[in-house]
Amino acid sequence: MTDSLTHMTAAGSIASAPLEKIALETYVPPAKPSLIGLSRAELAERLGTIGVAPAQRKMRAQQLWHWIYFRGAATFDQMTSISKEMRGQLEQHFTVARPEVVAEQISNDGTRKWLLRLPSGDAVEKAHEVECVYIPETDRGTLCVSSQVGCTLNCSFCHTGTQRLVRNLTAGEIVGQVMVARDRLNDWADRDTPGGGRLVTNVVMMGMGEPLYNFDAVRDALLIVADNEGIGISRRRITLSTSGVVPNIVRAGEEIGAMLAISLHAVRDELRDELVPLNRKYPIAELLQACRDYPASSNARRITFEYVMLKGVNDSLDDARLLVKLLKGIPAKINLIPFNPWPGTAYECSDWNQIEKFSEYIFDAGYSSPVRTPRGRDILAACGQLKSETEKLSARERQALRAMAMTD
Ligand code: SAH
Ligand code: SF4
Repeated sequence: MTDSLTHMTAAGSIASAPLEKIALETYVPPAKPSLIGLSRAELAERLGTIGVAPAQRKMRAQQLWHWIYFRGAATFDQMTSISKEMRGQLEQHFTVARPEVVAEQISNDGTRKWLLRLPSGDAVEKAHEVECVYIPETDRGTLCVSSQVGCTLNCSFCHTGTQRLVRNLTAGEIVGQVMVARDRLNDWADRDTPGGGRLVTNVVMMGMGEPLYNFDAVRDALLIVADNEGIGISRRRITLSTSGVVPNIVRAGEEIGAMLAISLHAVRDELRDELVPLNRKYPIAELLQACRDYPASSNARRITFEYVMLKGVNDSLDDARLLVKLLKGIPAKINLIPFNPWPGTAYECSDWNQIEKFSEYIFDAGYSSPVRTPRGRDILAACGQLKSETEKLSARERQALRAMAMTD
């Protein structure tokens, strides 16, 4: 881990100091529910449960919305336009707590990775952990957000897929990642600076998990993130990446309207079955049909096709040729991702020379084909390297641990 506290950006210096990892034993799950992740209607409903009169709920919910999502208030005390009495009442029942940041790593290229701890609701496992990564670039700052603890899908080249524990994140835990990034980067102010002045300008659902297998929470969270009276990152700056959950692709277009990225990685079903096992359920032809039907796509809003470059596996010019053929008629961009290795993987990244040849072929066929520069590899923050230590225990292992905990 390198300490790059001196890292400066257009919006000024980053105030926060890096954190060392806090031991799991010290984790105390929150005693009160957090309001983060609630829509205006849900906020109004919660206000009803603490006795706020029906006629006042909508207005109060709007005030809360502004303080939570626009100003980034981390305590009710900061919400000075709300009466002291009301703040006291809110404090008694709720928090505006984000997921707990238990470690922060800063790559020598400025990429930051946060390890977040979430309540597990289970005495044995204590807590769950996910990671969230901030990637600063000259013209933007992208936050890579997780949608699940682990992933059920086991793509053979992905580190996250090897993690055994899987649970869906709540909408609050997803929005909470954006809020943590703004907190840690001191990025709530400067809202009205010309040019935005923001550090987190884009969100990609490319962290741990398959977002379309946690559809409702991801939708609810992204609608909050995109809301212009709150966090205000527009849908055009939010990209949802999926390994191809076909039935939910059209739904995502209709109900979220974010930019779409498809983890294609192979152009023949036989190979894709192996790399992305979900392909056995939703093969390439069906996946591409769902892309053709994606409601929010157009020439101005192209679908990104992600293609990880695996040496000797999917990186031949024949593959490039077939790729171009397959994407005909779809407003598409192709994003070539050099494979990021992780401990224990059998795959290797394609040679640079081969990546260039592949990219040139695609470019000559009329596609923009940027090669994604790996970022934060030194802190295992690059695509597909995320994996938290939380592991799924088998029912038997859980039972044994519970029995041990009880006899302690
Ligand atoms: N589950 C979703 C989103 C998270 S993965 C999905 O699969 O699309 C984000 C991107 O990183 C995907 O394109 C994924 O295929 C890619 N990826 C996974 N492991 C990788 C690795 N080791 N090197 C490079 N890219 C990887
Ligand atoms: Fe899950 Fe995406 Fe990794 Fe596949 S690439 S295992 S879908 S996170």
